[in-house]
Amino acid sequence: MAAARLVFLGPPGSGKGTQATQISEFCGVPHISTGAILRSSVAQGTELGKKAQFYMDAGELVPDELILGLIRERLGADDTQSGWILDGFPRNVEQANFLDVLLQEMDQPCDCVVNLDVPDEVVVSRMLLRGEQEGRADDNQATIRNRLEVYRQQTEPLIAFYRNRQQLVSVDGNQPVDLVTEELKKIVHG
Ligand code: AMP
Repeated sequence: MAAARLVFLGPPGSGKGTQATQISEFCGVPHISTGAILRSSVAQGTELGKKAQFYMDAGELVPDELILGLIRERLGADDTQSGWILDGFPRNVEQANFLDVLLQEMDQPCDCVVNLDVPDEVVVSRMLLRGEQEGRADDNQATIRNRLEVYRQQTEPLIAFYRNRQQLVSVDGNQPVDLVTEELKKIVHG
């Protein structure tokens, strides 16, 4: 396997979680979703969960000081030695800079950053559907609007950040799920 340390970028509802799950199975490396870790912390009522819930319900980013330690700990675990897929992290430039330093410290360079490109109207309808089907608390109209705004302002600049370093690969995420997965498999095969 040529590439097994991957970052998945894309707007909320772009299919990052679904694709990261597929590719993590394909590569045999853990899928690390900060959103999933936070949702499980909220469900378990941990200190982190209690602090994070307010921001998640509003569609805002959880403050970096709650996220960075969590990522450091997760990437330091034994199961990440042969690779990982990061889904939902980094979410802003500060987090991307932190990740750079951390990966350097760990001597685990990222192989590539995959950007799932999906138009706004498609991500909104996907999130509304997910809200109905899975009951995710933040998949409602008002929160979705803010999550997209937060994505535009804070996360989208990372596309240029990684493109300038020739680490970015953009994939058309507005295709049937299986076709996106096939494209991603070709990318990680190198
Ligand atoms: P996601 O499942 O990736 O869409 O994340 C759901 C929510 O969790 C986001 O709207 C944020 O409130 C929070 N979240 C997830 N990842 C991060 C992160 N890297 N930094 C800050 N907040 C995050």
